[in-house]
Amino acid sequence: MQVIKATNHSILFNENCYTYLNDILLVTTFSKVFILVDENTASFCLPHFLSNITTEINLEIIELDAGEQFKNIDTCTQLWQTLLDLGGDRKSLIINLGGGVITDIGGFVASTFKRGIAFINVPTTLLAMVDAAIGGKNGVDLGTLKNQIGCICEPKAVLVDTSFLETLPTQQMRSGLAEMLKHGLISDKNYWDKFKTLSSLNTEDLDALIHQSILIKNKIVTEDLTETGLRKTLNFGHTLGHAIESYCLQNQEKESLSHGHAVAIGMILASFLSKEKELLSKEEYHEIKYIINEYFDTVDFSENDIEQILKLLIFDKKNEFGKVQFVLLTKIGNCVINQFCDDKLIKDAFFDYNYK
Ligand code: NAD
Ligand code: ZN
Repeated sequence: MQVIKATNHSILFNENCYTYLNDILLVTTFSKVFILVDENTASFCLPHFLSNITTEINLEIIELDAGEQFKNIDTCTQLWQTLLDLGGDRKSLIINLGGGVITDIGGFVASTFKRGIAFINVPTTLLAMVDAAIGGKNGVDLGTLKNQIGCICEPKAVLVDTSFLETLPTQQMRSGLAEMLKHGLISDKNYWDKFKTLSSLNTEDLDALIHQSILIKNKIVTEDLTETGLRKTLNFGHTLGHAIESYCLQNQEKESLSHGHAVAIGMILASFLSKEKELLSKEEYHEIKYIINEYFDTVDFSENDIEQILKLLIFDKKNEFGKVQFVLLTKIGNCVINQFCDDKLIKDAFFDYNYK
């Protein structure tokens, strides 16, 4: 698969990953190379990754506990300290080998340690491959509020080895799928159509879909790295998705939802809002709801749940001047940003979603 050029770095695939990495480790004099993993990527991904690396440089492995609950500033503090203790300096490199939690924390820690050191993202979940590892956004949660602290700093490279997906649980695959569906909905109807027959796809087809999804995200990001306009389209489904995700994290009695699952629900809700505002046709709205519900279990929201989720919306990073802004669809493959919706309409979206 062809190399994709991002603003200041390249995104490489499969066999090209290790050729690139071994070359760069040979020609660049990194004082130290750290590999950041979590407990799962340490056992499922690290052996394969290390077996493909040939270098004289001493590699330091740093392992974190797995899970979103560790994507916080405490973990960063421990990491900054560990880097110092292990002799990290401005010429060190961090390789983030993991899902979106690892690439988000690792990217943020690297971008802030000694005012910024080099890092390479090696995503090992589908979600990280098509989304989290692409585009230079890094950061951590503040309490249960998602991604409140962070920066936009590009990695030195992104290495996408799709063989890591062989050990990824189905639920996690589905989580990445949500972002791929989003890419189709906001910018490419032909791409969206491919997901109508996903069950008949083989591994090569999946590789091609991943490549295409990255192309879509990368094109948007390279045109608007700092999110002044176009990049906001990638927030489709995320305004309500993030609020739903935070709400489920805060409530012990609620089943915790993966990021992708929350976004999948958020996309159905945003499509309903698009239809109600007469931007999107009824037919396309029903198609979107039907296809997304084929892949994702539906969740019931009580009136109290909905009230609490609405309160959380105000913390959404995309809020400007105290107003919640949505990305809405004008048709499958096209969208508009900066759309306002009042609470009544948002509640109606939840009621319609609950109604199935
Ligand atoms: P994750 O990193 O928690 O990974 C999910 C689970 O899969 C973890 O338990 C992990 O240990 C395990 N795992 C990872 N790779 C594996 C493999 N190959 N085999 C078996 N198990 C494996 O979560 P995620 O879904 O990858 O990412 C979610 C995070 O990404 C969220 O924090 C979200 O906010 C963030 N995100 C960031 C951006 C961005 O632009 N920076 C975009 C989207 C999402
Ligand atoms: Zn997302």
